Amino acid sequence: MIKVRHVLGISGGKDSAALAIYMKNKYPNLDIEYYTSDTGKELDETYQLIENLEIYLGKKITKINASVESNPFDHFIKIYGGYLPSSNARWCTKKLKLEPFEKFVGNDPVISYVGIRGDEEREGYISKKPNIQSIFPYRKNIWSEDVISKFLANSNIQLVNSLYGGLNMNAKTERANEIIHSPLSTTYNQQQKLNHLLDLGAKEFNAAVFKFLKNTNYPLSKEPNFPLIDNEDIIIRDDVFRILEESGVGVPAYYKEVDFEINGKSSTYARSRSGCFFCFYQQKIEWVWLYEQHPELFIQAMEYEKDGYTWIQDEPLSDLIKPERIKRIKEEYIKRTENKKSKMQSPYLLDILDDAETEGCASCFI
Ligand code: SF4
Repeated sequence: MIKVRHVLGISGGKDSAALAIYMKNKYPNLDIEYYTSDTGKELDETYQLIENLEIYLGKKITKINASVESNPFDHFIKIYGGYLPSSNARWCTKKLKLEPFEKFVGNDPVISYVGIRGDEEREGYISKKPNIQSIFPYRKNIWSEDVISKFLANSNIQLVNSLYGGLNMNAKTERANEIIHSPLSTTYNQQQKLNHLLDLGAKEFNAAVFKFLKNTNYPLSKEPNFPLIDNEDIIIRDDVFRILEESGVGVPAYYKEVDFEINGKSSTYARSRSGCFFCFYQQKIEWVWLYEQHPELFIQAMEYEKDGYTWIQDEPLSDLIKPERIKRIKEEYIKRTENKKSKMQSPYLLDILDDAETEGCASCFI
């Protein structure tokens, strides 16, 4: 029988770390391989988190490197002639995360567990190789978009109907029939149909999808059973923090809020995500955090800015750290956080840092 590998990538962020803990506790019989793609430019706090996790999991987390050199990012920046990655030219994710991951799994059928939470909208930047199937254990809908669009295609209505027919739906049978036979249209989209079926019964929906996959080439077609089809948990941000704290692994230290004061006003700042210390996705207040909390790393980030390339469009880091500029960034940040706090009532700085989690990629920031 073909062996299907189960893998889980640890990005260094809170969600994937908590997912590893969650999977170990909830599905101890799944033989999961843990891996991390090291760019060579992570914060020490990230390496610490990985060490803590290895102890908790009682397993090695495989470091997959994008190059034989100890510093994969530096290797590729030379190849790219000093051209810094940006949100429009994200060669770093491709070269340092996706390609090494695809090499790590080779042609083996693989189930890849991804820590996108139940309270997030994003699908993430995930591998599209046919031998890699992504599963989202935190969400009510554990399946990837491609699986759902095949399953709910109008051409499969009869097939889905017969798959549901074998399930014990009792009082829900009539409603299930009605939903299944409602074709997708301009007034009834895939998301609506998906929500209706999941609301009717997530376990039944998952059982039908699992049966549907049997006649495809998806890796799960090769598994005789899959315990996650019975999972009805929805894990949101509070749960992630709780899982990390209760396990003793702890929340990555870069999330810890640090006090600062400007013009007699006090506030706190932190970093909002994992990834390379110079990541171009960070906000200006996070660059200031880096400058003040890890000055040696900030200097290293500055050294990459040559030949007109800068991490932030139109603002070299040497300008960003001028005292007047830092003062303005902090003032603007305080204003923004006060505005948001009054609207959001959230205890998390992460909610305040705009778009901290919605931007970026599923490889680096989960
Ligand atoms: S963390 Fe940022 S800079 Fe590093 S690989 Fe990911 S997107 Fe690129």
